[in-house]
Amino acid sequence: MTGTGVRPGAGAGAGTPSGAAAGTPAGAAAGTPSGAAAGTWPSATTALVGVMGDPIAHSLSPLLHNTAFRALGIDWVSVGFEVGAGGGAAAVAGIVALGLRGMSVTMPLKEEVAAAVDELTPVAARLGAVNCVVVRDGRTVGDSTDGDGLVAACAAGSGFDPSGRSCVVLGAGGAARAVVDALARAGAAEVVVVGRTRARAEVAAAVAGPVGRVGSEPDIAGAELVVHATPVGMGADAGAVPVDPGLFGPGQLVVDLVYHPLQTALLRAAAERGARTATGVGMLVHQAALAIERWTGHVAPVTAMQAAADGATEGGP
Ligand code: NAP
Repeated sequence: MTGTGVRPGAGAGAGTPSGAAAGTPAGAAAGTPSGAAAGTWPSATTALVGVMGDPIAHSLSPLLHNTAFRALGIDWVSVGFEVGAGGGAAAVAGIVALGLRGMSVTMPLKEEVAAAVDELTPVAARLGAVNCVVVRDGRTVGDSTDGDGLVAACAAGSGFDPSGRSCVVLGAGGAARAVVDALARAGAAEVVVVGRTRARAEVAAAVAGPVGRVGSEPDIAGAELVVHATPVGMGADAGAVPVDPGLFGPGQLVVDLVYHPLQTALLRAAAERGARTATGVGMLVHQAALAIERWTGHVAPVTAMQAAADGATEGGP
């Protein structure tokens, strides 16, 4: 698969709004194919993808996608589409009708879109959720790259391979289930789900098959990987830690999927007790990288995408 055109080189994209910050489509901005003459980009042949959900205004996905397209030198562009609950099916029809190449999907549409696409990958079918729509021969294929994004982020950012390791996932929602599924496929020795609602924890643990089980907080102490997948510690809740911090210790990698704030109270508590830590930005970057690869057929420029994400969050210089 290829893009609609390759335009290597640098240069400001014409037709881009001025005054936008670095990494946005202004000046020599990410996503602007270089070499395009003034007034010629985006053009009638520029391939379009995007991210849809609600709220969407602060999504980092267009930045990540456009950074990748620019680094690859292909004539693609990504934008945000504000689509609320109930709008998923019409939006999926629109993807095909308008000839979009693909779409990232975020809250609150992941389940709705799973029900609306023509086909699901085995992972998306198992999870009943889609975060990435790929268009193949005019048909929409729903995929889920969140879990594999987490596993790839652990490898790239922390040199951690889940194979044969004992893992704990805190929470039992959509993100947790995607992570549980990917850890099991990556060969984890066990995947223990610690959640506040027993029935939901059982559903999440079952996703891992024979290596999955429901656990409780003390299981954290014996885990080599702990993934926090609840919203606790976000925004107004910053400072909250959903489990006893005394359970963290050396020899562990602790990943917090929350990345607002970037250094959560949970990560600080884990680091103070000798654990290695990683923010949720890595998963965000790597799930987007996998979407780029599915849409374009190119290897995603992960380093450039990570740098763009770091620049847009507190992880930047
Ligand atoms: P979700 O489907 O709503 O699930 C949330 C989970 O957290 C549920 O299991 C819920 O418990 C639990 N929970 C909520 N409040 C809690 C509390 N006060 N104490 C204990 N548990 C609580 O949400 P999600 O889509 O899985 O997202 C979870 C988090 O991951 C969010 O912060 C989201 O922003 C983040 N996320 C990050 C990335 C990334 O790329 N870094 C990707 C996806 C999601 P019940 O089971 O009892 O309902």
